[in-house]
Amino acid sequence: MKKETRILDAGRRPVLSEGAVNPPVWRASTVLHPTLAALEHAIHTPFEGLRYGRFGTPTVYALEEAIAEIEGGARTIATCSGLAAITGTLTALLQAGDHLLVTDAVYQPTRTFCDTVLARLGITTTYFDPVLGPEGLRALLGPATRLVFLESPGSLTFEMSDIPALTAAAHGADALVAIDNTWGVLSFQPFRHGVDISIQACTKYIVGHADAMLGAVTVSDLDLWHRLKTGFAAFGACPGSEEAALGLRGLRTLAVRLARHGETAKRLTEWLAARPEVARVLYPAHPGDPGFDLWRRDFSGACGLFGVILKPVERPGLEAMLNGFRHFKLGFSWGGFESLVIPAWGGAVKRTATRWTPEGPALRFHAGLEAADDLIADLEDGFSRLSSLDINGPA
Ligand SMILES: *Cc1c(COP(=O)(O)O)cnc(C)c1O
Repeated sequence: MKKETRILDAGRRPVLSEGAVNPPVWRASTVLHPTLAALEHAIHTPFEGLRYGRFGTPTVYALEEAIAEIEGGARTIATCSGLAAITGTLTALLQAGDHLLVTDAVYQPTRTFCDTVLARLGITTTYFDPVLGPEGLRALLGPATRLVFLESPGSLTFEMSDIPALTAAAHGADALVAIDNTWGVLSFQPFRHGVDISIQACTKYIVGHADAMLGAVTVSDLDLWHRLKTGFAAFGACPGSEEAALGLRGLRTLAVRLARHGETAKRLTEWLAARPEVARVLYPAHPGDPGFDLWRRDFSGACGLFGVILKPVERPGLEAMLNGFRHFKLGFSWGGFESLVIPAWGGAVKRTATRWTPEGPALRFHAGLEAADDLIADLEDGFSRLSSLDINGPA
């Protein structure tokens, strides 16, 4: 069965829903046990079935089952946000004295967590060039390296890493490999490329409507799941059943939405790449992008998130462009139905292993579900505002 068919059925158990198409939102903290023996059994199997709301409800389990299926892993843990999935994974797997390798293009809050909380716990992080090859990674892997953390394409800068090659190098040194696979949801199958742990910010495309926070960690085997689940349970953070239901609802239309987001982004990046105001577009699915070959080899599709580096312009022109968009609203996050833009210049991109030196101001766009023609008209008007206020004029 194709993924777009499987995604409709994943996690659906009509027995739990009395025949209703969707599982109900289970609101639960206390769960009553009929006998002392049943209660004692529950104590020994806290993560199976309905035990206590914090460990999960049938709505949450349905979401976990569905995500395990679409990521192609053994089992999933749903979390209250994408960042919680990342921080929970790192703290569950690492301890004082351990060494962690992280791509220099990682989502900024992941870096902040490594540099503050993990550093305070005695866990050392080394960042590496996202486009480094396996020999380069091997040189950084030491006896204390427990985990290599990937994100490809990188947040804001969109570099592609050679995931299978880096994964093989990490495994050669007995390190686990985790990936933040939010951009690659549905289009990248991490476990087919040897990755051990795949993280989704479900807040983005899985929820898909900008109305809930949700994350997920999926793993390749059940021992790893048990280690992670024990760690997550110890912290006590858990996703709400309402949010899990919104995640399940979003999943059912994910394949069609992603196809449309991807088509629109392809049209916009082609159009933008030909504009005189643009130095280059950052989109691995764009032919000519330095990551295009890796993307074509490893991914089956793309999504609506891409970057644009403008040629140098003065701030008034940029402000006029960004303040006047009709569809590209200024706002964080992405993956909803709406188009968005954020600046990615100045301190937005923090690097320590490499330098990122864009030719001019960088912007990150999310192509929503609006008609591509309307979005192009919006961009065209934006460039008119930019040029009319830019004392240098278009280059
Ligand atoms: C948004 C995002 C996250 C964090 O997700 P939240 O649900 O907002 O916590 C993690 N990784 C990537 C790549 C993201 O874009």
